[in-house]
Amino acid sequence: MRLSRFFAPTLKENPTEAQIVSHRLMLRAGMIRQHAAGIYNWLPLGNRVLQNVARIVREEQNAAGALEIIMPTIQSADLWRESGRYDDYGAEMLRIKDRHERDMLYGPTHEEVVTDIFRSNAKSYRDVPKNLYQITWKFRDEVRPRFGLMRGREFLMKDAYSFDLDYASALHSYNQMIVAYLRTFARMGLRAIPMAAESGPIGGTLSHEFIVLADTGESAVYCHKAYLDKPIPENVDYNADLSRIVEDWTSLYAAADEKHDPKKAEELGADLVSARGIEVGHTFYLGKKYSASLGAKVVGPDGNQVEVEMGCYGIGVSRCVAAIIEASHDENGIVWPDSVAPFHVGIVNLKVGDKACDEACEKIHDAIERQGCDALYDDRDERAGVKFADMDLMGIPWQIVVGPKGIAKGMVELKRRATGAKEELSLESAVSKLSVTI
Ligand code: ATP
Ligand code: MG
Repeated sequence: MRLSRFFAPTLKENPTEAQIVSHRLMLRAGMIRQHAAGIYNWLPLGNRVLQNVARIVREEQNAAGALEIIMPTIQSADLWRESGRYDDYGAEMLRIKDRHERDMLYGPTHEEVVTDIFRSNAKSYRDVPKNLYQITWKFRDEVRPRFGLMRGREFLMKDAYSFDLDYASALHSYNQMIVAYLRTFARMGLRAIPMAAESGPIGGTLSHEFIVLADTGESAVYCHKAYLDKPIPENVDYNADLSRIVEDWTSLYAAADEKHDPKKAEELGADLVSARGIEVGHTFYLGKKYSASLGAKVVGPDGNQVEVEMGCYGIGVSRCVAAIIEASHDENGIVWPDSVAPFHVGIVNLKVGDKACDEACEKIHDAIERQGCDALYDDRDERAGVKFADMDLMGIPWQIVVGPKGIAKGMVELKRRATGAKEELSLESAVSKLSVTI
């Protein structure tokens, strides 16, 4: 991609409306623009990152056996009256009337809709276990939308819903999601710690919040130091018993605000970390709350009808983009982990119009793209300082700088955004180095 043809309206100055670094940098790097309070446009750079985060979420959900669907964003109020939540949900629900005066709403969550899909299509114990998920926009009319994507009104969420015949099987589905979450967040460069949580208005008994430690987090959290470098499960067999892994990851002390028990925490002494945290995901075991109120039953092996056991599992996909920036930036801008970067490599042409430089840049660009990586080629007629600043602001993990002096010797400079480390390499070895490292 040539930067001259791209659309990344970067800003030199800090926008005054942004209070936290992720919001500031997303505006400055030209990733997003506000449309209305808590509602955003995603520009090409931001969209590329959002899609990368969504892809990681999707790959890990699929690996854990969940099946992707898409449910409507606009829902009928009828199902919510049936579950009893239409009146309870309160002002966060955006209520709409259609032209026939029927009550509709913009979905803040999808338990009712997914339970309706299940009850009208699944009949027998052979139809379970099932886990259905989607990655779609939610609307919650938050009282105080703030911090950019952290607490928006419209936001992208992955929500999965599991259906099982009995508690033991439901617990296995729950564990599958816990393990998938550990892997998902780690792949996007986040260390998210599962903390025992209150279940809130969605209901249920067993629940964990996945919290990323960050100074700008909205809640105070406390956790055992061992969580900071615990190895993430690899080569997981999702059909095997996962209770040992989950036990290992959820038995150390970790609690957010309302669940914090100072006495219990004190016993840990120096091993306790107290920090602020961002909730990037949430898992709930729901039991029969919705299957009972909406009548979602299957015929069991003994011929009797049973209400199914459910769980629901959310990830704030758009919030993750902000959380990644909170966890990974410096004074010059964003430092994307390779896995979610909008482009893997930036190419800085120091002398646009110089035949040798132009040709070298194009050659590098094409070679990188042939390797399956995305390159952003700064072919603008701009000062070197502006180009370096924009590459760093946009957080491109690898940068290749091409100038007339170097090219005369067949050399370019390769820079790693995260460390600032630079090396002079031949054009070919710069390109092949990227093919191994990415
Ligand atoms: P919070 O406690 O932050 O209000 P919640 O408990 O209401 O979140 P859930 O219903 O558990 O949220 O939604 C699943 C995930 O969606 C959350 O873990 C969070 O990452 C994300 N999320 C929730 N509300 C918002 C929002 N207003 N803006 C962006 N992401 C959100
Ligand atoms: Mg929550």
